[in-house]
Parts: sequence; C-alpha cells; structure tokens
Amino acid sequence: MRQPLIGISCHYDAARQAWLLGEAYAAAVYRAGGLPVALLPGDPGGAAVILERLDGVILAGGVDVDPVHWGEEPLPGCGEIVPAADAFELALARGCLQYGKPLLGICRGMQVLNVAAGGTLYQDIHTQLTGVLKHSQQAPRSYATHKICLTAGSLLDRLLGCRELRVNSFHHQAVCRLAEGLRVTARSADGVIEAVEHVDWPFVLGVQFHPEAMWQQSPVFLELFNALVQASRGEKMPGNHYVGV
Ligand code: MN
Repeated sequence: MRQPLIGISCHYDAARQAWLLGEAYAAAVYRAGGLPVALLPGDPGGAAVILERLDGVILAGGVDVDPVHWGEEPLPGCGEIVPAADAFELALARGCLQYGKPLLGICRGMQVLNVAAGGTLYQDIHTQLTGVLKHSQQAPRSYATHKICLTAGSLLDRLLGCRELRVNSFHHQAVCRLAEGLRVTARSADGVIEAVEHVDWPFVLGVQFHPEAMWQQSPVFLELFNALVQASRGEKMPGNHYVGV
C-alpha cells in the first residue's frame, strides 16, 4: 500500500540554533503507515511549494504563537515566540485550508490552525480566565491528567469511538474565538477548547493534547495518525454526516 508523505513541523531550540522534531511524531506516522519528513522553515512563500510535494501535514507542538497574528499586543503571560515558525506554519495551515490537504494540528498546531483560519487565542489561560484547570501538567508526557468531552457525531468522536476520555495537557494558550469554518469537537470540564475540526474538508483536525505521546500506552490515540495517513491516501473518513450541535 502506498505510504503517503507526511510533513511534520519542527520547533526551534534557540540555545542550540537548531530545529528539532520529537521522535514520537515520526514514530506514530511510521506506525500508521506513512513516511514522515521534517519540515524546516524557510521563506514562507516556500510553504506552498513544499505543500505540493506532501500528501499530509502535522503541525506539531512548540512555543507560543505571536499575538500580532490576531491583532493583539503581548500580555505579560505570553511566552516565547519564534517568528519564523509562525510565518511558515501559518502559511502551511492556510495552504491546507485552501486545498483541503489533510492536516493534523497538535497542541500549538491546533492553535496555528485556528489563527490561520481567522480565529484568536488566549495568550495565557491562567491569567485571562478564572476557574481553569491545570493544563500545564507536571507528570510524564504519556500520562493523562484531565478529561475531555467529545461532540457527538464529530470526526473525532467517530475516530476515537468514545464521548469522554482522559488526555495529557501541555499548554497555557488556548483557542479563544473560534475561526469561521471550524467547529469545536472537544472541551475540558472548564470549557477550554480541546479539539476542533473543519466543517467541510474531510480531514482538517486539531487537538490540544499530545496523541503522539500517548498511543503506545493507549492505542486509541493512534487512530488520529491512522486517519491522517488514510486521508492522505485519499481514503474516505468514517461516517459521512455530522449530527452534533
Ligand atoms: Mn488541556
């Protein structure tokens, strides 16, 4: 069976002046039957050329998205930003949104997807919202620390086959105003958006948790990578209609 080429964004290590990619992302793509390739930012205009060569994209985790991209000045709670990563990944996400290229946005990648589609983020949920849960867990990466509730009939629900599950959490930014064209498919108990998907394209999906760190212990999370690889081969996603609200 054809192994689709799945590009995965890297994150920048300023101290080493190196772009890095956690091996867990590549391992999940290999396991799902895809061929992972690391994507290094260059000219944002090059994103379209790279995208043409890829069958699917993972926008991986990383540091904060610069609030300038949704028209805000930085608040004290905003963390490290890497302008080159923002420009490149926003361009990749916009390309996927334009052409329906299969996209799995993980953590920062889901946030990039929402901003690329015209939405906004909380720069720091712990100072901008009251009553939030702990979303920056201090526990092993594979360990789930909070619950999420899935939207019935969403692609996420159909792929994971459950309405509620526990996930890991390594974020302090979150989706604030949802972009047009996306819908919420999971929230944590405090209302924070934990997953989104595109209303029209077959596989443009974002999750706030890190499935690449969980599938070895909890195989259900591999379904997200299986679906990305299947969509990148042009296969249909399970179910063909949306019954949620
Ligand atoms: Mn969380």
